[in-house]
Amino acid sequence: MKLYISCDMEGTAGLCSWKQCDPSDLHEYPIFRSYMTREVRAAIDGAREGGARRIVVNDSHWSMRNLLLDELPADDDVRVISGAPKPWSMMQGLDASIDAVFFTGYHAKAGDSATLAHTYSDDVYRVTVNGTPCSEALLNAALAGSYGVPVVLITGDRTIVEESVAVMPWAVGVAVKDAVGFSAANSLTPQAAREAIRAGAREAMACIAHAKPFVFDAPFELTIETATVEQADFIELMPGFARIGGRAVQFASGDYPMLLAAFLAATRISAAADAIG
Ligand SMILES: [Zn+2]
Repeated sequence: MKLYISCDMEGTAGLCSWKQCDPSDLHEYPIFRSYMTREVRAAIDGAREGGARRIVVNDSHWSMRNLLLDELPADDDVRVISGAPKPWSMMQGLDASIDAVFFTGYHAKAGDSATLAHTYSDDVYRVTVNGTPCSEALLNAALAGSYGVPVVLITGDRTIVEESVAVMPWAVGVAVKDAVGFSAANSLTPQAAREAIRAGAREAMACIAHAKPFVFDAPFELTIETATVEQADFIELMPGFARIGGRAVQFASGDYPMLLAAFLAATRISAAADAIG
């Protein structure tokens, strides 16, 4: 069995503030990158117990250089993808050779009343595919689905876990914390979270046989509502995007990977608006 793990950070147990997952923070970030790493290690250990052999881990948060690599298993069946930008961002390295996907440390989507809720960028007020509001988990699951690969585990805050399991009922969900506010959470302790993740990962491996790839129905229509008008001005500069409102742009394609690539590029170019200010 070949497993792919996309590991984000905001959904790590105990984490409730941008400072704790901002690599420029010298005080709290080093502690929380260790918590993140140990949750990923727990997922790897559980997956191994459940029969995974080769594992690809994609560091998927911020500059994508968060994992403390020396705390991961010491054998060449585990590969780690680090750094940014990567063409496929949180899903770099995913292809049809993968049997199943884990999402760890995932968080609620933009607009949800949940801790550090966002979707890829603070510039994204709301993103939909074919009218369905999307989290990072759903956007990424649909990329895996376009390769015929199912998601079988999602760990993170309760909002994203429950929302994801509702649309992918074959997946195991491990909720490590509940939102109290955008910058507050009621969480399992890191150690308890790791034990739950390890058990969930083991259980998820047994779900692969009846899991299904998640897909939207083609053709695909992406709508991005931005936080500001100027961000939409910048995204509109990209060929293929149509302006449909003051803070809204649209992109259509019959090819889902192309649609996701357009979204990822849009989140990058919208940042130019923030730079000009
Ligand atoms: Zn993140």
